Amino acid sequence: MQSFGFDNTYARELPGTYAPGKPATAPAPRLLFANLALAEELGLPAEVLQGPDAAALFAGNLLPPDAEPIAQAYAGHQFGGFSPQLGDGRALLLGELIDRAGQRRDIAFKGSGRTPFSRGGDGKAAVGPMLREVLMGEAMHALGIRTTRALAVAATGELVRRETALPGAVLTRVAASHLRVGSFQFFAARGELDMLGRLADYTIARHDPDLIGAPDRQLGFLRAVAERQARLVAQWLNVGFIHGVMNTDNMALSGETIDYGPCAFMEAYDPAAVFSSIDHNGRYAYANQPAIAHWNLARFAETLLPLMADADDEPAIERAVADAMEVIDAFPTALDGALLAGQRHKLGLFAATPADDAADAALAADWLTLLHTQAVDFTLAWRLLASAAEGQPEPLRDRFADRAALDAWLARWQARCASDGMPGAERAQRMRRASPAIIPRNHLVEEALAAATAGDLAPFEALLAVLRNPWDEAALLTRYAAPAATDVTAGYRTFCGT
Ligand code: AMP
Ligand code: MG
Repeated sequence: MQSFGFDNTYARELPGTYAPGKPATAPAPRLLFANLALAEELGLPAEVLQGPDAAALFAGNLLPPDAEPIAQAYAGHQFGGFSPQLGDGRALLLGELIDRAGQRRDIAFKGSGRTPFSRGGDGKAAVGPMLREVLMGEAMHALGIRTTRALAVAATGELVRRETALPGAVLTRVAASHLRVGSFQFFAARGELDMLGRLADYTIARHDPDLIGAPDRQLGFLRAVAERQARLVAQWLNVGFIHGVMNTDNMALSGETIDYGPCAFMEAYDPAAVFSSIDHNGRYAYANQPAIAHWNLARFAETLLPLMADADDEPAIERAVADAMEVIDAFPTALDGALLAGQRHKLGLFAATPADDAADAALAADWLTLLHTQAVDFTLAWRLLASAAEGQPEPLRDRFADRAALDAWLARWQARCASDGMPGAERAQRMRRASPAIIPRNHLVEEALAAATAGDLAPFEALLAVLRNPWDEAALLTRYAAPAATDVTAGYRTFCGT
């Protein structure tokens, strides 16, 4: 087995924050998915994914000699309640690679067996949820949204016990890092300030190197994390993505979307949309995501305070709290700003002036209210608005029951568009780069995963190919763009995939 060229700074620089681990042995490895484009980005030879050892490698049976598998410690607020010890219960970080763009990336297994953090779990994963992570991650990446990505999925040849026995699999996940809010919470909760400080400096060096050594670097880091999170959640909202389990252990400090468990894209626009089978109160519903990100960020700020001021220096603590609060309090406005910037593009408003934020935000809000009250498909409505920009409103109008209400809004919107003088065809073209034709529709994802679980990968592969090209106008005419029947969506439930 050849070396990957790993450089394992986390394992080297942060002893005490992880436990060494070893992947479980898979009885009959078989490669189900290989991401050649990502391997290329990582500078890994295609041979790694295509050679005779690939299945054994990505099922965890053969490790590159320079891999140093470790399970990282972290804590987390799950549905608002604090769990002081979570950690990688079914994941192992193998090592870090510097990609072709010079970025350090983590390569990790998910579903590779028990670790010291497994608690009652088996450490395993099933084929369906791991391929689901492939589809969701690749879709998000194609949509231009920062995300962890799947390098490979290998079936293990073993059954895992869930509600039923399911074929097992190991996912190889690539991430800017796996550092989370929960990583900091783990050491803050234990009062291990030395470790916390080293973790903070490590994370800053990795994600915000401009701040290395700055006296107020923790505050700067908090601000950087907040900015990334505001941009990310705004992007989620603008494609109708519902993460589903925004616990603090699932919020990456890199600003990538991480942990595709019960996530889903909504169909008809509904701010209260929630699909997760365990989210009974809608804590992580579509429209709650900004408030939850805000709350998670406050939990993150709390972990940094002991690094920002000495425990017995009252005035310094007060200053640190005030500084952190300023960042936290600015978050909703930052998120709204990022959301509106995205909405402007979706509305076809690309010129810098005239820019009346309140008027444009109201235009977007009224549009969404129309979609909500008339239960119109979020993705198609935005996409077909582009056609309306070049004088073809009929496909859009066909999706509304109350056309008079739509026409009144369209008149307002057209007047706003006219104010910048952009030709309709150009506006439409640019709008089609802001609103995808294709998202991973729940019924298609389920159909592909059910077939894959039964041994037929063809629907998964076909869906993946379509998801990688989400802006394609021709795709609008295919079944991949069509909404599910409303009763299918109403009854749709997602699971954490544990
Ligand atoms: P998640 O909901 O996937 O973010 O996982 C929350 C926590 O549960 C993490 O600490 C996971 O490592 C752990 N976990 C999830 N599934 C399993 C499993 N099958 N075995 C052991 N630990 C698990
Ligand atoms: Mg998680």
